[in-house]
Amino acid sequence: MGTQTARRVLVTGALGQIGSELTLSLKDRYGADNVIATDIQPDTKKKVSGDVPFALLDVLKLEMVEEIIQKYRINTIYHLAALLSAVAERKPREGWDINMGGLLNVLDAARANKCSVFFPSSIGAFGPSTPQDGTPQDTVQRPESMYGVTKVAGELLCDYYCKRFGLDARGVRFPVIISNGTLPGGGTTDYAVEIFYEAIKKRRYTCFLKEGTSLDMMYMPDAIKASVGVMEADPERLKHRNSFNVTAMHFTPEMLAAEIKKHLPDFTMDYRVDPMRQRIADSWPNYMDDGAAREEWDWRPDFDLAAMTADMIAVLGKRHEQGLLV
Ligand code: NAD
Repeated sequence: MGTQTARRVLVTGALGQIGSELTLSLKDRYGADNVIATDIQPDTKKKVSGDVPFALLDVLKLEMVEEIIQKYRINTIYHLAALLSAVAERKPREGWDINMGGLLNVLDAARANKCSVFFPSSIGAFGPSTPQDGTPQDTVQRPESMYGVTKVAGELLCDYYCKRFGLDARGVRFPVIISNGTLPGGGTTDYAVEIFYEAIKKRRYTCFLKEGTSLDMMYMPDAIKASVGVMEADPERLKHRNSFNVTAMHFTPEMLAAEIKKHLPDFTMDYRVDPMRQRIADSWPNYMDDGAAREEWDWRPDFDLAAMTADMIAVLGKRHEQGLLV
């Protein structure tokens, strides 16, 4: 899309961990009149609906998707509605239906209405046979979780629509996202957010992943930066279109606990491993190579482990003092 054309953005799954913060950031960037937030659930907590128009939208209903695109004259769709890894593993059929059916509807509606699409893939798109250290941009992808299956298929589907129909479908492979707004919606690695809440409230945390489990992570401001960055990238420079590896830091549970202890010295952590989530986490990269994103659209993160931890504790600590930490 040319820079002259004003972006008119539809966000699906806007009440989730990423959507609730990305929507507000898109509003600041493109204007409140140019962003429409949607979700299958009503916005009872007023996460976004005080700031931008909000509509109920089930992405499995193609006519509803088309109707909203036309009503609001949308030209860019951030498609965030999905079932996350741990939930999709418990309900694999629903995971497939929502993640694939929703994406297919969004791509078809985007094609018919000439919209660009952002599709977030994940480190979950890799599997145990993927090189785990410095995971390359283009590599073996044989995930063993339903979530991973839908993410690989989603990446391929976006490439297919791009090559076959000229649809501008772009995206990144997010690592684990850490945020202080909405709690994560049932991922394999929710520990990296929960740990901050428990550290501030109780000074202790029981981690469901075992010591030594290294994973890529990213603080929410960087996730937003990546989401906007890839969509605004100069198409002439893009050799890849979607599923760019992006990362900001990688650490193990004990490294995160040690960093938190620098701020809260009496914090302690023990472990009670959840085998299902451990199995999934073990099949994901220890750390990815995000060189393609750096080269093709100048991706650079702003937050490392120390900066992210300091900010999380400052924000959540203040909220706790005000009695607002749930
Ligand atoms: P989330 O679970 O917090 O939010 C998903 C939202 O989608 C929810 O508000 C839910 O109500 C909505 N939804 C579910 N089914 C729907 C349907 N049929 N129609 C419309 N809305 C529906 O997820 P999130 O963490 O915000 O993730 C957003 C996207 O980013 C997902 O595609 C996810 O796979 C991807 N991602 C997230 C992470 C992470 O760490 N959070 C990492 C990698 C990729």
